[in-house]
Amino acid sequence: MPGATSLPNESALSRREGEECIYIEGDAFVHAIIRDISVTDESISAEICPRDSSGFRPPGATLQPWKIGTRREGAGVTSDEFHGGPYAPWSIYFGEGLVAAIVPIMAELEGHGWLWRKAALRALLPTPGIVSDGPWRGIQTRLDRCAVCLRETCFVPSLPGHSRPWSPSRKGRLLLVSEAPPESGGFWHVSQHKDSTGEDDLRTQLFKLLGLDAVGSFMASGLFLIQTLKWPLAATRKGAGRSFNHLRSVDQARLTEHAVTAHLRQEILTIAPAGILAMGNAALAACRAISQDPAGLPNGRVEKAREANGRLSIRYGGREIPLDVTLLPVGQNMRLSNRAIIIRQDFDSFLRRHAWDPRKRSWPYSGPAPADTPHTEEAAQ
Ligand SMILES: [Zn+2]
Repeated sequence: MPGATSLPNESALSRREGEECIYIEGDAFVHAIIRDISVTDESISAEICPRDSSGFRPPGATLQPWKIGTRREGAGVTSDEFHGGPYAPWSIYFGEGLVAAIVPIMAELEGHGWLWRKAALRALLPTPGIVSDGPWRGIQTRLDRCAVCLRETCFVPSLPGHSRPWSPSRKGRLLLVSEAPPESGGFWHVSQHKDSTGEDDLRTQLFKLLGLDAVGSFMASGLFLIQTLKWPLAATRKGAGRSFNHLRSVDQARLTEHAVTAHLRQEILTIAPAGILAMGNAALAACRAISQDPAGLPNGRVEKAREANGRLSIRYGGREIPLDVTLLPVGQNMRLSNRAIIIRQDFDSFLRRHAWDPRKRSWPYSGPAPADTPHTEEAAQ
């Protein structure tokens, strides 16, 4: 058929018969099953059968199935999305991994207003490439108020203002995952007016490794950072260091499980990283817990897992995300030459794997350029 390549791929859509999907149209956003898919030369139609999943639907929305239809021209089908033409402004997202990732996050958001939940849902979906500030701020505000974190005895639940990550602005960055912020604020806690390398140990060490000098250039070069645990760790015993490695394994497991379920999944789906560097055992444990295929990751601590660098990945949200593993590059590791060598090697191989070049202001990830102005003020509110 002439011009067939520009028209929706009917077999790609027909294969979705009976599958779970996420449907968005106007104010409605539902978790549904798609049925009765019919594709003719002129049009496409299907039936949307909503499921009663928490966190979806505006108040009072129906659970009755309804028909959708669109002209073939203008409609689009990709491997994981189907959208109507100009007069059929809906989109349907498919993919077992994506739906399985989003449904529990939306259930977590159940208590929030539906407008906010809809914005969060859009940020979780694989398109478009922009992450607007609202949903990101929402994630961080929710995290600041998380009752489970606030009563966790392993945490000191207090940070100076402006300590949470800036908005990533767009999807597809290279994501560094560290352990927990220190009480002084950590990587993202920079003065509003001067973007200096300042006092934070991790930030100082990272900038040395990356050849960068400011959080602004870190953002411009396509990198991003989140902390596995969202609050500073409390001292466990007298004289013991405040680190994940000093915690009892039962505490490590509880903290990781909560961080992943309540916070990290939503952050990672929103950031949609092109690659992850897990720095330290907390980050590695979280990546294992996030992956929908944890058997694909080696057991053991960072020292063991890093031997497979270059071949590791996690599967999440319907994507395969390349993973590298290294020790946490803080002063106490960087001062020991054997550990510093390991960390430099792992950084080199991670950055080479993704063809990252700090001299290029735009790292080749998809989507338009991010705004140059940081928004510390709003991001930390
Ligand atoms: Zn929490």
